[in-house]
Amino acid sequence: MTESTGFNTSLLHSCIEGDKSTGATLTPIYQSSAFYQPSASQHEKLFHNQAPGYSYTRIGNPTITAFEERMTKLEGGVASIACASGMAALTNALLNILQAGDEIISSASLYGGSIDLFRDLEAFGIHTIYVKNNDWEQIEQSITEKTRVFFAETIGNPRLDVTDIRTLSELAHKHGLPLIMDNTVATAYLVKPLELGADVVINSTSKYINGHSDAISGVINDSGNFTWDAEKYPGMKEYKKFGKFAYTAKLRNGLFRNTGACMAPQTAYYNLLGMETLGLRMERECENAFKLAEYLDGIDGIEVNYPGLEKSPWHQLAKKQLSRGFGAILTIRVGSKERAFSIIDNLKIPMIVSNIGDTKSLVIHPESTLNVHSTEEEKTNAGVFDDLIRISVGIEDIEDLIADFKQAIEKSPL
Ligand SMILES: *Cc1c(COP(=O)(O)O)cnc(C)c1O
Repeated sequence: MTESTGFNTSLLHSCIEGDKSTGATLTPIYQSSAFYQPSASQHEKLFHNQAPGYSYTRIGNPTITAFEERMTKLEGGVASIACASGMAALTNALLNILQAGDEIISSASLYGGSIDLFRDLEAFGIHTIYVKNNDWEQIEQSITEKTRVFFAETIGNPRLDVTDIRTLSELAHKHGLPLIMDNTVATAYLVKPLELGADVVINSTSKYINGHSDAISGVINDSGNFTWDAEKYPGMKEYKKFGKFAYTAKLRNGLFRNTGACMAPQTAYYNLLGMETLGLRMERECENAFKLAEYLDGIDGIEVNYPGLEKSPWHQLAKKQLSRGFGAILTIRVGSKERAFSIIDNLKIPMIVSNIGDTKSLVIHPESTLNVHSTEEEKTNAGVFDDLIRISVGIEDIEDLIADFKQAIEKSPL
């Protein structure tokens, strides 16, 4: 595959040789927890990373490797580590470089689960300072001698603000800090953070990568570009000899295997299958979201938030940074919590569920569900209000979606 090969062709053909031992077109599910070794010395080599191969699925498995290789191709960088969930990926990506006393500077516009995780990390002496996304002055002023990492989502869930990745990564690097980004909402179809300067990217692959809501998982991708200062990141010292693979080597030999964060082989297979249509699904879902946003924007008493609309404060940045579309999620504010519930209950097509990124359209009232553990301030910063509905747009026929929203809104007067 050349650099100019299109998104879908590259996704389908760049690292698919089929199964090495049988020629099966997709790597089968190696549903095995352990792998037989021909000799004790071969086993010793495996455990010393001196021979390729597999010993135990918590550490590695051929189906999982096949998925990791495709994710590396998709997001770029030097390596991927597949995890049991998006939260496992985020936890491992951060703790691989952090220790007690360290500080995270994070965009305040985050997925509710990530806010909950950062609160949990306080008990381990890791403190998070929240900043307004893209507020360069506030971000720079928040840096202390304890700061060890910047964190943000490429498109905030559910605030739908767009992070200026290049500027944020330049600011991080100016201060000798790495940038870790969560690309779950945008996916590599819209933006590849590692190409814009981010150092590590995580995805909840439970969402668009899998695409069909049939398995929970996450992935960490490492650019290999960050130079880890051994004084600031003492744990990285013994791994610096791995060069571009230092971060991945430390994680694979440390927390990832020791926290047991591995993906299930069956999940890796579902993801391999699902991700083949990532481009097709995103194309249709972004187009549907755009049309639905335009339709809803014309209705009195409905306030639409979608980066594709010119009135969105993030539209210009979205146009510059995102390729091929503006994402498949939009939010609407409808005036009151009662009205939000009524609209949700009257919709016939979208399912009421807590995730995003399915082929089917999904709706949720985040304030009463996903952000149940957030403080009022955390909710406001994350763009969550009691009259807000989040819509994850699927691949249905847009005429049907629009008609369904029309009738649900008409049945729910202001
Ligand atoms: C869903 C989600 C996560 C968490 O992923 P899980 O696979 O549910 O653990 C993290 N970040 C974002 C932006 C998400 O939407």
